[in-house]
Amino acid sequence: MTTPVTIIGAGLGGLVLARVLHLRAIPVAVYEAEPSPMARTQGGLLDIHHHNGQLALQAAGLTDEFRSIILEGHQAMRILHRDGTVLLDRADDGTGGRPEVHRGALRQLLLDSLPAGTVRWGHKAHGVRALGGGRHEVTFADGRSTVTRLLVGADGAWSRVRPLLSDAAPEYSGRSFVETYLFDADTRHPASAKAVGGGSLGTFEPGGNDKWIGAHRESGGTLHAYVTLRKPQEWFTAVDVTDVAAATARIAREFDGWAPELTALITNSDTPPVVRPHYALPTEHRWDRVPGVTLVGDAAHLSVPNGEGANLAMQDGAELGQALAAHPDDVEAALTAYEQALFPRSAEAAAEGLRHYELLFGGTTPQGLLDLFSAAEQPQ
Ligand SMILES: Cc1cc2nc3c(=O)[nH]c(=O)nc-3n(C[C@H](O)[C@H](O)[C@H](O)COP(=O)(O)OP(=O)(O)OC[C@H]3O[C@@H](n4cnc5c(N)ncnc54)[C@H](O)[C@@H]3O)c2cc1C
Repeated sequence: MTTPVTIIGAGLGGLVLARVLHLRAIPVAVYEAEPSPMARTQGGLLDIHHHNGQLALQAAGLTDEFRSIILEGHQAMRILHRDGTVLLDRADDGTGGRPEVHRGALRQLLLDSLPAGTVRWGHKAHGVRALGGGRHEVTFADGRSTVTRLLVGADGAWSRVRPLLSDAAPEYSGRSFVETYLFDADTRHPASAKAVGGGSLGTFEPGGNDKWIGAHRESGGTLHAYVTLRKPQEWFTAVDVTDVAAATARIAREFDGWAPELTALITNSDTPPVVRPHYALPTEHRWDRVPGVTLVGDAAHLSVPNGEGANLAMQDGAELGQALAAHPDDVEAALTAYEQALFPRSAEAAAEGLRHYELLFGGTTPQGLLDLFSAAEQPQ
């Protein structure tokens, strides 16, 4: 390969790919829009699955490093009825296959595993165009550009690389998360801290599928809630999140009649609520082979949140890296092999994820919800 593999996006998918290529001595450059690794907080906890995310980290030679950032005890799980009744309270006995880590710690671990200069910060891909013969030119927002023989879009939901391969665009699912944080919760908000327990919390509303509250206990007594509402995006836009008290009161009003320790996860937020609309690409998203370019992670198969996206992105990165290493003189053979496995795997995961999403947010019985969570806890 005469030019480095050019990866757009230093998320988990792009970084695992870069690391696997680096281990095989294949030159790689990652172009990231953010100006620095610390430019943005990286979000909450991710459970890293035995059968995909952990295998990817193994391929990246980072299993020990991964184990060192696991938050022990955080696989505990509780499900509460909206009235506060405890339906499930499962301790973390250390046998689950989905340990939790901070997304920021995982990303940093991957960044630390790459030679300095591999990630080129402050490079927001703006335009991409085919030059023929599998070569592509990427133009960045500041006018700089680069030409490559292998371009990988690892640039997430709103990928700038995807249009080279597909006309598909993410569509709003009808639901959004509102994220809140409560700090020092054991001291300041003991009832909510007890409701969440040591790991994650999910709620159940009989007959409902318009609203849901989930939460994670992060490090240091921080509770991170994912309040879900089925509403048009305009409804969320009309909530002025800069007025924290009014915004949280407005959102909490949707949960009238719910247990106070649950609604307090909204009204006691220490941070302005952040709205995250749920978008997804079509379940069967795929494309015809185009020389010299492919996609990994959300750019390829954005799904509604279902606990798999980061795991799948890392699996894609690992598998693409391994395919390129297995076909050192034939990029097209590598991309074909990668995509032949990617498409059915992603379609199956997206369909299963959608089923999980609908069960989680509604249309189920307490037993259905318990079964869903019990299945999710088993190592696969
Ligand atoms: C609230 C929330 C909770 C979630 N929880 C979980 C979970 O528990 N478990 C799980 O497995 N998944 C979870 N997901 C899904 C998961 O976050 C994604 O599927 C995963 O991050 C996808 O990784 P990626 O590398 O493909 O893309 P991303 O993580 O989106 O990374 C893309 C990178 O590309 C950069 N970029 C974007 N555009 C450009 C550009 N034009 N030029 C250069 N760089 C660019 C971005 O800055 C970013 O660094 C959650 C998602 C959300 C929103």
